[in-house]
Amino acid sequence: MKHYRLSFAEWSKTEYLVILRCILSGKINQGKHLSALSRQLIEYYSPSQIYLSNYGHHAIEVALKIFHGVRPERNQVIIPAYICPSVVQAIHACGLIAVSVDVEDDFNLDPMAMHAAFSPWTLAVIAPHMYGCPAKIEQIEQICKDAEIFLIDDAAQVMGVSTNNGRLLGTFGDVGILSFAQSKTIVTGIRGSGGALIINNIRHSDAAKLMMETLPPSSNRINALIDFFWNYLWSAFTGNSYYYLCRLLWGVGRRSDENNQHSMISNLEAGIALVQLAKLAEIKIEKIRVAELYYGNLKNSKMIEFPQYQEGRYLARIMLKLPEMVDLKTVKEKLKIKGVGSRLGYKSFHSENTKNSENLSLRLIGVPCGSNMTSEEIEAVCKILQITLNEIGLHS
Ligand SMILES: *Cc1c(COP(=O)(O)O)cnc(C)c1O
Repeated sequence: MKHYRLSFAEWSKTEYLVILRCILSGKINQGKHLSALSRQLIEYYSPSQIYLSNYGHHAIEVALKIFHGVRPERNQVIIPAYICPSVVQAIHACGLIAVSVDVEDDFNLDPMAMHAAFSPWTLAVIAPHMYGCPAKIEQIEQICKDAEIFLIDDAAQVMGVSTNNGRLLGTFGDVGILSFAQSKTIVTGIRGSGGALIINNIRHSDAAKLMMETLPPSSNRINALIDFFWNYLWSAFTGNSYYYLCRLLWGVGRRSDENNQHSMISNLEAGIALVQLAKLAEIKIEKIRVAELYYGNLKNSKMIEFPQYQEGRYLARIMLKLPEMVDLKTVKEKLKIKGVGSRLGYKSFHSENTKNSENLSLRLIGVPCGSNMTSEEIEAVCKILQITLNEIGLHS
C-alpha cells in the first residue's frame, strides 16, 4: 500500500548538513548563525526592529507585558476563537483574560466581531493568519488604531507572506511575532526551536530591547531534535519506537516537552532557519502548486470544501471542510488504514458568539501537502477521502 504522509518540515540535505556541522563543532547553543540570522531578519523587516527567541508565544508574552505596563487598568485580550492553544496559554501566563470572538469563513478573526467585543478593559488584539491565509489585517489595524487598542500581528504561520498591497504580514499593528516550530512556514524543529518579536511601533522599542536582549542562551536542544526526528521527520521508519529510544538514551520514557523555558534560539536552529529562508520563495511556489491541485480535484465535490483556497495563495496546510455531522475521528482512523495521514483542526476556544469557529473545529481535517507531492498523489488522496466519506454513509 502506498502511504501519503503529513509533512512537518520541508527539509533536504542542506538542513541535515548544518545540524551535523553544529554538532561536530560543538556550536549547538551559541555561534555565528545567531548573528547572521538576526542580521538577515533585521534587513527583511526593516524599518521594524526584530528580536529572536526560542518560542513565538514568548514574543506574545513579552508584547502583552509591555502593553500592560503602559495600560495597567486593562486586562482583556481579544483573540479569534479558532486559534493555536499556545496563544491562549501566553495570555493566561501574563495574568490576562482571553476574550474570544468569531472567525470568518477563511478561519480568521472577523473584524466586525472584534469591534463589537471592545470594552473599556480591552488591552490588545491578537490577529493570526491561519495556516498562511492572510487575515483582514489592514482593516483590523485601522479599527484598533481608532480605538487606541494595541495590536499583535501574529505571523507565526506566515513568514514572508505579504498582503495584496505588498506589505509583509507581521509588520502591522504595534508588534508582530514569528515562530519556527513544526508545521509553520519556516521550520527549524520542535518546541522551542525558534520565534521572534517584531517591533513595528517604536514607542515599544526600549521596553522590548530590555526584555529581549537579556534572554539566557538556549539549552537542551538535542533532546528536542531527536524528538523531532523520531516522531515527525522519520516517523515512517521509526513508528512507535520513541519510547524505547528514550529508555535507551535516558533510562526513562520521557519526551522533551518539559522544556518550556524562554531563551534565545539555539545556534543550530538559527543555522537551519538560514537555510530555510534561502529557499522560502521556492517552497512557497511549490505549496501554491499543491493547493491548486487540491482545488482542481475538489472543486466539483459537493461534500468536501476548501474554504481557504484562492488562486495563487500560499497555504502552509491544506485544511478541508467536511460535511456537518461527520465524525472526524472516524474519518481520520479510516484514512489511516488506507495509508493517508491526516490531522484535525484546533479546538475552538468558545464563548457565546463563536458559532463559526465551533463549526470549523468539528469539520476541518488537514491532509498531506508536502511541497514535493505530485499531481497523481494529490488526486489519489482526494479519491481516498471521497471513498471514505461514502463508506461512512455520506453520498454526494
Ligand atoms: C504556533 C503558533 C504560535 C506559537 O508559536 P510557538 O513558537 O509554538 O510558541 C502563536 N500563534 C500562532 C497563530 C501559531 O500558529
